[in-house]
Amino acid sequence: MSTVAKVLIDGPSELIFDYSIPDGTPVVPGCRVRIPLQRRAATGTVLSTGPAEEAGFRLKPIAELIDPEPLITPNLIKLAGWMAGYYGTPLEQIMRSLLPGAVRQETHSAKTRAVVHLVKMPEGEDLDRLSRRAPRQHTILALLEATGPNSLTDLGGGSVRPSIKALEQGGYVEVRQEAVRRDPDAGEEFLESKPHTLNPGQQSAFEAICQAIDTSIANQEPGTRNQDPKSDRPPSIKPILLHGVTGSGKTEVYLQAAQHALDQSKSVLVLVPEIALTPQTVNHFKSRFASLQDQVAVLHSHLSQGERFDEWHRIRKGEARIVVGARSAIFAPLPDLGLLVVDEEHENTYKQENPPKYHGRDLAVVRAGMEGCPIVLGSATPALESFNNARSGKYQLIRLNERADGASLPLIRIVDMRLETRKQKSSLAILSDRLRTGIESRLADGGQVILFLNRRGFARSLQCPACGHVCGCQHCALPLTYHRTEERLMCHLCGYQAVVPRRCPKCNDQSINLQGYGTQKVEEVLHAVFPKARIARLDADTARKKGVLRDTLRAFKSRKIDILLGTQMIAKGLDFPNVTLAGILNADLSLHIPDFRAGERTFQLLTQVAGRAGRGEMEGEVFIQTFTPHSPSIQFARHHDYDGFADQEFEFRRQFGYPPFGHAALLLAKSTHERLAEFTLQNLHQRLEKDLPASISLGVPNACPTPKTHGQYRFQLLLRSTTPRILTRHVQQVLSNTTFPDEVTLVFDMDAYDFG
Ligand code: ADP
Ligand code: ZN
Repeated sequence: MSTVAKVLIDGPSELIFDYSIPDGTPVVPGCRVRIPLQRRAATGTVLSTGPAEEAGFRLKPIAELIDPEPLITPNLIKLAGWMAGYYGTPLEQIMRSLLPGAVRQETHSAKTRAVVHLVKMPEGEDLDRLSRRAPRQHTILALLEATGPNSLTDLGGGSVRPSIKALEQGGYVEVRQEAVRRDPDAGEEFLESKPHTLNPGQQSAFEAICQAIDTSIANQEPGTRNQDPKSDRPPSIKPILLHGVTGSGKTEVYLQAAQHALDQSKSVLVLVPEIALTPQTVNHFKSRFASLQDQVAVLHSHLSQGERFDEWHRIRKGEARIVVGARSAIFAPLPDLGLLVVDEEHENTYKQENPPKYHGRDLAVVRAGMEGCPIVLGSATPALESFNNARSGKYQLIRLNERADGASLPLIRIVDMRLETRKQKSSLAILSDRLRTGIESRLADGGQVILFLNRRGFARSLQCPACGHVCGCQHCALPLTYHRTEERLMCHLCGYQAVVPRRCPKCNDQSINLQGYGTQKVEEVLHAVFPKARIARLDADTARKKGVLRDTLRAFKSRKIDILLGTQMIAKGLDFPNVTLAGILNADLSLHIPDFRAGERTFQLLTQVAGRAGRGEMEGEVFIQTFTPHSPSIQFARHHDYDGFADQEFEFRRQFGYPPFGHAALLLAKSTHERLAEFTLQNLHQRLEKDLPASISLGVPNACPTPKTHGQYRFQLLLRSTTPRILTRHVQQVLSNTTFPDEVTLVFDMDAYDFG
């Protein structure tokens, strides 16, 4: 049978066409090829190969293989195949995002520049003549002799061209076109940092990782496979979950483990949640490996096309052996991978929400398995999925329970806002008296303050400010969502509906309301209460302007700002030694949303925020303002009790079959026609119910908590299963056998994180 290649054609329209592969041509996915297109010749990248579908229809053959070496490694092709099956996404779509246009297309090919090299210096009489008659040529030669090769531009560009030409003719210099690397960090200096002496906890974590690295290398050497006579499988290397409290020095462990992998001629891939928000981790790697600077590549969304092209090819060729990057860097084509690190592995930014949807951490675990190399997942608040894997023995758990610098974890104080609201006689208090006096005294002592307001609350739940009661669903243990247009409360998982109560069902108070406030309002209040303080605000609005985020954080670090107010974007990995107080203005905002991970997110947020305070010499203090002070997420965070939190959360998750005790997927229907979207999803639901595999449980089609965005109505269907692949296959089968209206977009989201 003949084989067919799907080829993504270079050019703005990104068309994909089938071509036949001439016999004997070693075409594999990721190869660059020349193909005929209409009447002209074009270039493209092979996305996939497979048997021809329809006999009789003759395809044009691939004209030429430009480079038999594919742009990606064989393991990445395997990873793409895994993704296609697991997430139910066409392989072409996955390959396309694996190979960004900047990497594939010739237009971004390597940049070159003219460099002038000295061949020989004129001697004796020649030298005399030159210095008298052509002083300019003489100067150039002297410069080249003293400083080595210089670019034409540095020598003066166009104006020196005639002199260079004359020197070239005389055989004194040579001009060569040389590749220049477009370095995203050109001009930045990184001073080499010296390794810390590890404390005992770090030391044993470090040794465990090194041992895994060594084992994996031994496994890869032929002949050493059957060390264990009872089994012919190589000793397995489990993923390592590094659970270390905030400030426990996880980064130092990563750095030294990375050094160990490099020493064994292996490469290292480090994933961080978001480059802009975790500049410190990136800088730590750049500084520690400053002497290997050309071997460190950073991949992130702000690279120019040219920079991306260069970094990618440096990685592919094995020149860059350490890659630090955000989520999509999991596709970095590193050969000889020896260690994978996922820092802050619990972060939701690892989830890619645009198609192809995937979870960077999960892919990292899969890739490590394919590469046969160890992976370290690090966090102060591991995702419950990861922690469950550690408990069941699938992962190896390593703990760092102490802060590296010996500081103690900060004191956390819970402020009951029901009392404050009563005391301040307002319908909703923003700043409690205790937090206000706390800030006053810290500022007086020269400390700095961070305040958080989580605004994520995409759907409004109904909460009583007098007693803190939240109207919830009887069937799903999740808050009901208020729908203004219908004046109704709805459960988005099971469809339960209720009327909006006039009085609180629990305490009978009339002030049950939806009133809320944002960061802007808080900023006003802060200015009024602390007129002398220097206050800055960081949220999606203010950070939209380029450089604001970085500049504000810098100003805060250099103590030009007293109070930094922001959304969760400032909660991540930042290390400000002078912050002695952190406050969370309304912990309920992230807690009472219709998402089974709400409790987990709140626990993570509170713990991370608490981790910002008291990193220096002074002891830190954290205030959490809430209307539901007894909620488990808040209480366990207060006592720095991760295990306690996990225990009670696992109970709830197990009862309802939520992750990690099952996979949750969403099928989403979007359309500008409301009825059409709803009807399509109902139709699909009926078809999914037929021959439903026993391991799958099906919800009912329902309006999303955010029922309309960008002019589109949104309906969703929740599916749960203990066997993700069977779930995906069942959905794919139904989708491919169903015709649905063009006006409706369907999105399948395996392991969904966004329930908005
Ligand atoms: P984490 O990432 O676990 O929150 P960090 O890596 O930010 O912790 O480390 C906290 C601080 O402790 C950093 O300032 C780091 O330089 C310092 N540190 C790490 N390891 C050691 C060590 N062995 N001795 C002294 N200081 C250390
Ligand atoms: Zn319900």
